[in-house]
Amino acid sequence: MIVYDIALTTRFRGITRRQGVLLEGPAGWGEWSPFPEYDDAVAARWLAAALEAAEVGFPTPVRSSVPVNAIVPAVGPEQAAARVRQAGCRTAKVKVAQSGERLGDDVARVAAVREALGPDGLVRVDANAAWDVAGALEALRELSQFGLEYAEQPCRSVEELRQLRRGLDAAGIAVPIAADESIRRAVDPLAVRDIVDVAILKAQPLGGVRAALELAERLGLPAVVSSALETSVGLRAGVALAAALPELSHACGLETASLLLDDVAHDPLRAVDGELPVRGLHVDRDALARVAAAPEVALWWRQRLGRAAALLGRPDLEEL
Ligand SMILES: [Mg+2]
Repeated sequence: MIVYDIALTTRFRGITRRQGVLLEGPAGWGEWSPFPEYDDAVAARWLAAALEAAEVGFPTPVRSSVPVNAIVPAVGPEQAAARVRQAGCRTAKVKVAQSGERLGDDVARVAAVREALGPDGLVRVDANAAWDVAGALEALRELSQFGLEYAEQPCRSVEELRQLRRGLDAAGIAVPIAADESIRRAVDPLAVRDIVDVAILKAQPLGGVRAALELAERLGLPAVVSSALETSVGLRAGVALAAALPELSHACGLETASLLLDDVAHDPLRAVDGELPVRGLHVDRDALARVAAAPEVALWWRQRLGRAAALLGRPDLEEL
């Protein structure tokens, strides 16, 4: 196993570096990179995903490539438009409602993205649960002028999402809702089933590709597979999930290798013409050495891995 530490190209979800563990097993490499603030029980679920990739491998794919969206962090309008043009995707996901910003910033960013994509492109926004119901109604009323494919996790709780749904319908604002945090961080991931239109599925947080496939079946909603801001090793699991879903009607949020300044694959998972190929990876030994974390960071991750492994009943991993 190695502990990696890679800088991001731009601040994303409040962080500027990404760290995690890469494990090699009989089936290949797996990534374990729960965000630092997550507790050990959550981290253990993420570990199950890494172990699936390293020890079992992935289910048989039903498609050979996966359409993906460009990702637009909380940057200014010019930078947002430049990212969209550079990515070459027909769908863009725009972060909105980020701390320290105002609705006017979101409007300017989404307007620039719509302009860059043209009228045929699809624009989705992700609020990461930051709005209350009134704030979401106000923002989506404004942003809907640009034509939104959907709004991802506009509010935090299931009850707020239910109220927002009613408010949008009453006001005649036609914006579908997608659930992300309400699925991957909820005690009952099925609670949003009758409220939202789209389910965001992430392989690592849901405990692996097979666990996510099972949940997708129980949810019965159109699914969008997204990354957890991983290296190509973690993204590979997301690609495997998207490739194995019986139906895939939306672009996936897996074009995020571009947010990391380095990668560990010889052939990183980057989109070509808006698609990621479903293929194996060659993990690069030189890159592993280049991205290795400092000793104190590595120690923190090894200790955390030991605790998560104990929760999964894998004492063999505690010794790694
Ligand atoms: Mg999200």
